[in-house]
Amino acid sequence: MGAPLLLVENLKKYFEIRKGFLGKKVYLRAVDGVSLTLARGETIAIVGESGCGKTTLGKTILRLYEPTDGRIIFDGRDITHLKWKDLKWYRCETGLVQQDPFGALPPFMTVRRILEEPLIINGIKSKREREEKVYRALERVKLTPIEDFINKYPHMLSGGQQQRLVIARATILEPKMVVADEPVSMLDASVRIEILKLLQELQYKYNQSIIYITHDLSTTKYFSERIYIMYAAQIIESAGTSELLQNPMHPYTKALLNVIPDPDPNNRFIIKDVPAGEPPNLMSPPLGCRFHPRCPNFMKGVCDVKEPPTIEVTKDHYVMCWLYG
Ligand code: SF4
Repeated sequence: MGAPLLLVENLKKYFEIRKGFLGKKVYLRAVDGVSLTLARGETIAIVGESGCGKTTLGKTILRLYEPTDGRIIFDGRDITHLKWKDLKWYRCETGLVQQDPFGALPPFMTVRRILEEPLIINGIKSKREREEKVYRALERVKLTPIEDFINKYPHMLSGGQQQRLVIARATILEPKMVVADEPVSMLDASVRIEILKLLQELQYKYNQSIIYITHDLSTTKYFSERIYIMYAAQIIESAGTSELLQNPMHPYTKALLNVIPDPDPNNRFIIKDVPAGEPPNLMSPPLGCRFHPRCPNFMKGVCDVKEPPTIEVTKDHYVMCWLYG
């Protein structure tokens, strides 16, 4: 398969927070030792509850946050600690699709201006060349006929059209990798599938690699080739999509699958262990396995003492749980 486009090793992002009258330093461990790979033209999904660190992981990979520790290798180059000015090429090779399209678009700019902005920043001086790229980007995301959209402002577009525009902006420089952070969670159900299909089409047609961040495991089976389950800043299970959906191993993954409503009775997962409670505070996560206060399979004296290792239980299926350790 060749070298992966992206290799992330033991990545950490801690935020320093000062607490109390004396300003005691504590750290919020938003990403805590994450490793993953992304092949060229592949889509991977990062799935977890709100607050598990998946958005911070995406932004750290994009170097919008400075990593605390670990390594990020992109296209054979170590970009972990490159200075801002040396990251210009990386900004061209990567794109971000945000969750809230309206919030992500400048309200005072027209569609044309929004799409021209990254081209101007990246030194494309020829107006004609910019115009061609803008038209091509709008065609790619199917905002056509183009004359109906190009002079509009974001508030004149529907939610689905706004998200298409965000995707057009993220891909106008034809990046090798796109991070799509909950790209459909704020859209009506009727347009969600259209946007996912559009991202899939960009992946197939232009061989773009996509990191799809979501809390909704049900959408991953249509869209990703590999799933990473994230809990409390760590990856606790990963496998190929169909393997993970058919043979979930970690109690948390089983719980996530249990809450997916599936209209097809043959596809329903019959798992009864839905854990109560809240995800842990990432400033002081529990000792041992971070899921232990909620786990239906908790083993006292084991799970609350030492963090489980990540083990390859079956071929290419990795789990971080003492049940398999
Ligand atoms: Fe549950 Fe223990 Fe496995 Fe954690 S290590 S998921 S507490 S069984």
